[in-house]
Amino acid sequence: MKTSKIIEYLDNLFPNPVCELNFEKDYEFLIAIVLSAQSTDKRVNSVTPILFSEYNNLKLLKEANLCDLEKIIRPVGSFRKKAYYVKEIARILDEECGGVVPTDRDKLLSFPGVGRKTINVFLSEYYNIPAIAVDTHVERVAKRLGLAKENDDVLTVETKLQKKFDKSLWSRLHLQLVLFGRYHCKAIKPECYNCGLIDICREKKKNL
Ligand code: SF4
Repeated sequence: MKTSKIIEYLDNLFPNPVCELNFEKDYEFLIAIVLSAQSTDKRVNSVTPILFSEYNNLKLLKEANLCDLEKIIRPVGSFRKKAYYVKEIARILDEECGGVVPTDRDKLLSFPGVGRKTINVFLSEYYNIPAIAVDTHVERVAKRLGLAKENDDVLTVETKLQKKFDKSLWSRLHLQLVLFGRYHCKAIKPECYNCGLIDICREKKKNL
């Protein structure tokens, strides 16, 4: 069966998958995910140590000068809008959530810059709540492997993956698909010559 083959292959390739964003506290992780939109984990990891050491609690972050925040997070791109998100997320967490990132999806959706993908990544990684976050890598790999159709939107891809894989595998599978897409099944020049899933892949001919 296709899904068993995928699980077996990804388990061999990434036996201990971990999120590549660096963080210590819950709000640092949430903010790191928000900063990673349209950027890379590497770039985010280059700015968050500075950000979270200069503003090492939510009160300092919510009162930070916007221009100072913009200067720090500039390398991640869209820095004006993201600086506003950081300040506002810190304010909401401090004033409305007792300083703790909540598990309530509706509350999280009310945070600026926080969408379904961010929530899924956060809940599955930080609270170990089963979820499959569909980012650009997960979407691309799922479509190439025929787990979703080419014109499916991200929500449909997420639903299809949830139906095809056991709930206990979701969080791990998300990380494995991200790593597989980032390092092997890349958007440009995927490493099909070296891929153990080539037999079930829709795109192999195009890429070889
Ligand atoms: Fe990706 Fe190529 Fe493997 Fe298909 S054969 S899953 S495109 S790396």
